[in-house]
Amino acid sequence: MKLVEYEGKVLFEKYGIPVAKKYGVIKEISDLDNFLIDEYPVVVKAQVLTGGRGKAGGVKLANSFDEVKEIVKKILKSRLVTHQTGPDGVIVDEILIEKASDIEREMYISVIMDRKISSPVIIASKEGGMSIEDLAKEKPNLIIKLPVDVEAGIFDWQARKLAYDLEIPKELFCDFVQFAKNLVKLFIEYDANLVEINPLIITKENRLIALDSKVIIDDNSLFRHKDIVELPDRDSNDLEKEAKKIGINYIGLDGNVGCMVNGAGLAMATLDTIKLAGGNAANFLDVGGGANVEQITNAFKIILKDKKVKAILVNIFGGIMKCDNIAKGIVEAAKNVSINVPIVVRLEGTNVDEGKKILESSGLKFYQANTLWKACQKAVELAK
Ligand code: ADP
Ligand code: MG
Repeated sequence: MKLVEYEGKVLFEKYGIPVAKKYGVIKEISDLDNFLIDEYPVVVKAQVLTGGRGKAGGVKLANSFDEVKEIVKKILKSRLVTHQTGPDGVIVDEILIEKASDIEREMYISVIMDRKISSPVIIASKEGGMSIEDLAKEKPNLIIKLPVDVEAGIFDWQARKLAYDLEIPKELFCDFVQFAKNLVKLFIEYDANLVEINPLIITKENRLIALDSKVIIDDNSLFRHKDIVELPDRDSNDLEKEAKKIGINYIGLDGNVGCMVNGAGLAMATLDTIKLAGGNAANFLDVGGGANVEQITNAFKIILKDKKVKAILVNIFGGIMKCDNIAKGIVEAAKNVSINVPIVVRLEGTNVDEGKKILESSGLKFYQANTLWKACQKAVELAK
């Protein structure tokens, strides 16, 4: 679950991490009617799930209420294209207005799960801000990595060493140690995959402030974070949300070959093979281990709601479920759903021959293939 900047900052405040004073979030132009700003300049920030907003015109300084209005009118409901969004960009539905800080220095800090060492790791740099990607390329020696203990959090001595390496001014040492501890605590207690602050700034008045936030919470932990579940899921489209509700792992893609596969690994291999055969998948879809009639029916329905789909490729491995049962499921599901595109089926595994016979004698038109490669070639050809 990805949070937008202002949602991440609510968590920061809960953990005593200093953020800029927030004036509010605008969703409609009319929200400005009762908006109170007592001090300028302020910063007007597009709340979208992408980085690089600053460079793309999604973060603007305003010195008066008229300027705020002008900027809000310009970016609200507009499409923001950043180096991370691709050419289509993302629609700006919300705008955060916060106090502008007088920046002395911009730094970078994040906590992320390092799978290699099975532990959270802090990544930090004394030079942060909008060009952090360039820094990683050009001055990798300026990037500090610090593994932290998932039970104990970060130790004071580690935080002090980090403060030293980041050249934090002496007067801010204690604040920084507390800040680093709170950041790691938030990461662990919220089961985050990533908590990133870029930039973490030191102001001209010598204060430490988290000026941006990027927070991703592990979806598998949401059952214990009621406050996060209540937030809108901004990262999924309508089909993805529908699929999530019925327990199907579905991610929409750009191509025209609809895919139904059991197992995430096989699903990814199928996407790759479709690409290799010169086509593009319309979706990633894992029907799950059960692959019963109900799930297969639901999967067909979801796939067909995407009007780009010109052919369907079913690639199911009969392991725990036997191929004859799966074939019966496919036939019944195909009868339940009116399917107006060709279906290619590749079955493999236990009782595969019986499974193939069931498809053959079903009276429905299935293109059967013996290998993944042949199945993908056929599906790509039929989708053309
Ligand atoms: P993004 O990472 O998407 O570009 P940021 O929130 O990091 O967006 O903002 C980009 C830049 O805008 C920051 O590096 C900082 O220089 C400036 N900025 C952002 N918020 C403020 C603020 N409240 N006060 C002053 N400058 C800000
Ligand atoms: Mg940023």
